[in-house]
Amino acid sequence: MVNIPLEEGKKYILRIKDIGESGEGIGKIEGFTIFVRGGIPEDKVLIEITKVKKNYALGQIVEIKEKSPYRIDPACPLAHECGGCQIQNIDYTKQLELKKNRVSSDIERIGKLENVLVHDTLGMDNPFNYRNKAQFPVGIGGGKTLIGFYKQGTHEIVSIDECKIQHGINDKIVEIFKEIIDKNKIPVYDEKTGRGIIRHILTRVSYTSGDIMVVIITKGKELPFKDEIVSKLTQGIPKIKSIIQNINPKKTNVVMGRECKTLHGEDKIIDYIGDLKFEISPLSFFQVNPFQTKILYDKVLEYAKLTGNETLVDIYCGIGTISLFLAKQAKKVYGIEVIEAAIEDAKKNARLNNLNNVEFFLGKAEEVAPKLYKKGLRADVVVVDPPRKGCDREVLETIAMMNPKRVVYVSCKPSTLARDLKILDELGYKTIEVQPVDMFPHTAHVECCSLLTRKE
Ligand code: SAH
Repeated sequence: MVNIPLEEGKKYILRIKDIGESGEGIGKIEGFTIFVRGGIPEDKVLIEITKVKKNYALGQIVEIKEKSPYRIDPACPLAHECGGCQIQNIDYTKQLELKKNRVSSDIERIGKLENVLVHDTLGMDNPFNYRNKAQFPVGIGGGKTLIGFYKQGTHEIVSIDECKIQHGINDKIVEIFKEIIDKNKIPVYDEKTGRGIIRHILTRVSYTSGDIMVVIITKGKELPFKDEIVSKLTQGIPKIKSIIQNINPKKTNVVMGRECKTLHGEDKIIDYIGDLKFEISPLSFFQVNPFQTKILYDKVLEYAKLTGNETLVDIYCGIGTISLFLAKQAKKVYGIEVIEAAIEDAKKNARLNNLNNVEFFLGKAEEVAPKLYKKGLRADVVVVDPPRKGCDREVLETIAMMNPKRVVYVSCKPSTLARDLKILDELGYKTIEVQPVDMFPHTAHVECCSLLTRKE
């Protein structure tokens, strides 16, 4: 039995030492872990225990007794309310250090691997205005239109005038919508009753081509004052290349529906990663931080160490961005992905870039990869970029059987990465180095690129 040194409702003094996966502060009393929202490393806080579980407790700050030297005033006045950023109140250099530490400690604790070189996190020179995609819920409060983000863990809308992590043009788009909806009293969607018209505003901006897409998500086909919306947007923001209405009739948390109607201009915009060209439509998946994506993919390319003769397999390939990024320097690339629309985009993007040495397969990696192996596919290099839950064991075993010299593992969750690196180690692949890349400054997300080589 673990000795629980705390009681619910009682107050304790605690030194915060780390942050958790959602950005919450973590401290310990007699070795027992306590999660404290809003606490940041080196804060000394008086907390009240709100919940005690078997292996951890939750605490709430009553008073900050000593402020951490890393505590800063967030650039955004709504940072503590809005669920978008979790750690804007931590100095950016410290954010990068915390992310690196998380990776190192997960690799030691979960991966049980020694001598793995974890590099300093590659951060942004200017860690603001980096997101190329924004999704704003639309609602009403106090008789005014609210457009913004959800408050952390709720569906309450925090109305915003300026978001520091989105492309700056979004502030203007939001302002135009607030004006038009208020003036014309266009009914906004009510999640509780399922009534109303406008549900969300979604924007996509290309930092490379300058193109802007605005998507208005409505409950039904009806969109009053359509012409006024289009003319105000295009007059106010000439770089808008595409305005689309997306219809989502369902009572669901999923933002977009299947049906799209182009109200103005093109049905897609163009974006680039390096010199690769991509067509982005409202429903396409695309990396949201284009600056750091390039840095991440350059790292993948470096670790893959291609000479032009390699057969490469890219598992969990999405719209094929990594596959295509590497295809120019490989003999042949095979991509595997479970979402049909993504595979369609991947094929289209290959054609758009005149890359003929890439083949994409639709299906679950854990089913498709073993099938391809049985048909005789072997690889010189395998790249994997799984979702947060990491790779299926089946996938890891198939990778080892394909017998590549190198495996490049791109991960968005250090704990599952560490678990999988351990399995790959047992299967004959040694983790040499791990490079954390800060894809999402001011959030607790940690992205990594790892290099593994076959043990001889
Ligand atoms: N490599 C891509 C996308 C990686 S995100 C890029 O850099 O843009 C992870 C991808 O894995 C998503 O596209 C998701 O649809 C896909 N995925 C999730 N589970 C999967 C499975 N079991 N088999 C194949 N693909 C899967």
